[in-house]
Amino acid sequence: MSASPSSPPAKVPYLRIATEEAFCPKEMLDIYRKILAAPVVDPGFLSLMGFYMSSPSERAQHIMRCLVDLDDIRIQHMNESGIDVQVIALTSPGVQVMDTDTAVSFARFANDVLADGIRRHPDRFVGMTAFAPQSPREAAKEIQRGVNELGMHAAVVNSHTHGEYLSDPKFWEIFEAAQALDVPIYLHPNTPPANMIGPFMEAGLDGAIYGFGVETGLHALRLITSGVFDRFPKLQIVLGHMGEALPFWAYRLDYMHAATVRSKRYDAIKPLKKKPSDYLRDNFHITCSGMAWHKAIAFTQDVVGEDRVLYAMDYPYQYAIDEVVALDGMDMNPAAKKKFFQTNAQRLFKIPERNHS
Ligand code: MN
Repeated sequence: MSASPSSPPAKVPYLRIATEEAFCPKEMLDIYRKILAAPVVDPGFLSLMGFYMSSPSERAQHIMRCLVDLDDIRIQHMNESGIDVQVIALTSPGVQVMDTDTAVSFARFANDVLADGIRRHPDRFVGMTAFAPQSPREAAKEIQRGVNELGMHAAVVNSHTHGEYLSDPKFWEIFEAAQALDVPIYLHPNTPPANMIGPFMEAGLDGAIYGFGVETGLHALRLITSGVFDRFPKLQIVLGHMGEALPFWAYRLDYMHAATVRSKRYDAIKPLKKKPSDYLRDNFHITCSGMAWHKAIAFTQDVVGEDRVLYAMDYPYQYAIDEVVALDGMDMNPAAKKKFFQTNAQRLFKIPERNHS
């Protein structure tokens, strides 16, 4: 957390809409405590929530205090950092570390808690619906309920679920529901699964510093190469952290995907209708969560177009007022900057008029 400057960021000719902001119902921590006390615990979950839920460090205590709040603390921090609207999602790993029955019922509970918070602060909060990939049928139903009954504007998934990826067609009911409802799915990071995390853990690199990005980038790439977007051409996936580095990989992905298809080396690498980078441009939106870096933002705007790059803070994990000031000051034309902070999010998440004041 950064120290509060004496004054909030200056008035600017755009709304600042932060699009990857996290919350956690207190009740989820009770479930997490039980999971952490079991004889066998997923190493990534133990490393992540085992740390945040028990560390006396100021950073961990601050994050836990902010995560469970959907009222005064959050609104005060939004005011202090000049954030007009937060697009809020259940924090990682959400329900995906739970058993199927618990995950299905808790996703509903968490969505109700978030919807209540949005009702209390309708001009400041916009919600994403959580769902349990453990049951694709129930997940699709909860996405429908979240959008149609609770007024959510997107769905969120925290990357892999017990080591399984949404590139497996058994999960594709989820994409079918999102495409039919015309809501994006935010593919948010999780720690790498047990069969991947070892070399990250031994170096202390399994979390947000690097492991998140590698694992979530892999997940997004698996969606592309498995043909998800040939099957669901209108589906929109949101990736944080400057696209988990995939825009930087675009050239090599295109070259090597074509070469691998030609050589018939892997059954899993099939011909696609388009190049991998075309799907990045047509089926992804990218936020700058945790990556308040103009050069990376400008490069990504160049690769996927300035209509597809959005602002995010990653509150409360990254509560950094100086980053807002730095991004306000980016050397970017005013129209593009307004798209980045405001209008891309309004269009993608269909944020209603009440948030436009
Ligand atoms: Mn995040």
